Amino acid sequence: MTTPPSGNPYATPVPQAVPNPYAQPGGYPQTAGVPQQAGPYGYPAQQGHPWYAAYQGHPQPPAPTCMFCAGAPAVHVTFRAHRGILVLMTFGKQSGMMCATCGLAVYRELTTRTLWQGWWSPFSLFLFTPFTVLHNLVVARKVKKLQPPAPGQHGPQVDPGVPVHRRPLAYVAFVPVLWVLFMIVTGLAQGS
Ligand SMILES: [Zn+2]
Repeated sequence: MTTPPSGNPYATPVPQAVPNPYAQPGGYPQTAGVPQQAGPYGYPAQQGHPWYAAYQGHPQPPAPTCMFCAGAPAVHVTFRAHRGILVLMTFGKQSGMMCATCGLAVYRELTTRTLWQGWWSPFSLFLFTPFTVLHNLVVARKVKKLQPPAPGQHGPQVDPGVPVHRRPLAYVAFVPVLWVLFMIVTGLAQGS
């Protein structure tokens, strides 16, 4: 390495203080051979430390934390809600990273809503609402498999409340189901 002539203002080698954005947490320091830079509070910069990297705002893989309470572990799920009234049908959904607690809350809320609002149009009755309920049941298994976030590691959580089968509105679903059964039985009785 040649020494540039003195007096050149551009000659001073600038220390490479920029951490490697691809550095793995816990990996080797990326500044080998470069004077150690002081951190923001005078402490030596620990560039392999994930907190430091987060503080610096460098690209990190998206942390799997809950969209509601920032707790971990979390998984990306999409719960759906369906409402059908005569010809008016609406499709709702809640999608994102959810922990076990908040995911369960969303599952129960949207499923219960579907169970009492979802049956009142023909397409909803036979197609969309059964699909929505089944979909939510399958997706709920993903969040139920997660460990709940450890206390102190998350913010305010969505209250999961009581299970779907303890919510009276869910039993509204029996009305159209019983009606369909009634029609089928009546039809069979007339045919015989
Ligand atoms: Zn959560």
